[in-house]
Amino acid sequence: MLPLIDFHIHSTFSDGLYGLNEIARYAYEKGFYAIGITDHFSTRKVRSMDPEVIKRYLEEIESIDVPLKIFKGLEIDFSPRTDISLIGGKIFEGLDYILFEYVGDSNMGGYPLWKLLDIYDDIGLPIGLAHNNLQKNFSSIEMNNFLDLLETHQIFVEVNTNKNYSILGDYYYSLSDEFFKKFKDRDIPVSIGSDMHENLDEMLNVSRGINFIESLGIEENVKIFLKMLNI
Ligand SMILES: [Zn+2]
Repeated sequence: MLPLIDFHIHSTFSDGLYGLNEIARYAYEKGFYAIGITDHFSTRKVRSMDPEVIKRYLEEIESIDVPLKIFKGLEIDFSPRTDISLIGGKIFEGLDYILFEYVGDSNMGGYPLWKLLDIYDDIGLPIGLAHNNLQKNFSSIEMNNFLDLLETHQIFVEVNTNKNYSILGDYYYSLSDEFFKKFKDRDIPVSIGSDMHENLDEMLNVSRGINFIESLGIEENVKIFLKMLNI
C-alpha cells in the first residue's frame, strides 16, 4: 500500500487559490504522508513566479508550521512561453524537484524531449514530466528507446489526477497505460499529483492515481521517486 502523497499543488504564489498554510493544514488533517508545492515558474501562460520571488517562496514553504513532510517544487511550462535561458543554476538552489509540463506536446507548443535533455545537466535536480499524455506525445519514437532515456536520466513521470488532463473521462495516465506497464521492469521513477488549484478536495483525487499504480503493480517506481527526494 502506498501512502497518500501529492507532489503537484499550486498556491497563491502562482495561480492557486489557497495559501501555503491552508494547503498544509488540509493535507495534515486528511492524513497525507508528504506533499510537494509546485507553483508555476515565470511563463506567459498563467500567473507565475519570476525568478526573484523564488527565494521568498522557499522561505515561506520552510516556515510552514504543520507536522508534515513538505517538498519544494516548481512547474515549468516547457515552451516558448517561458524564457528557457533562465533555467538552471543558482536560482533553483534550495528546490527539491522540478515538473516540466508540455514536453513533446505539439498541441501546446511544447518543446521536444531532446531539448530537456540538453539542459538536464544545468538543472542538477530531480526532474519529471507533468501530466504528459505519453501515448500521444511519444508514439513516434520507439518505446524502448524512450524508456531508456527516462531510465538513464532518472526522469520521473507523473500520474496526474486533474480532469484537465483527461479525454472524454479517460485520464492521460490510463490512456498511456501501455507505457506505465513497462515501468515494472525498469527503474523509472513515478510521482503522483492532483494539480490542485481551486478546491482543496481535489487533493484527495490522488487516491485514483494510487489505485492505478497499484493495479499495475508499479509501487516500486513510486518508491524510487520518494528515494530521489530522500523520503
Ligand atoms: Zn500544475
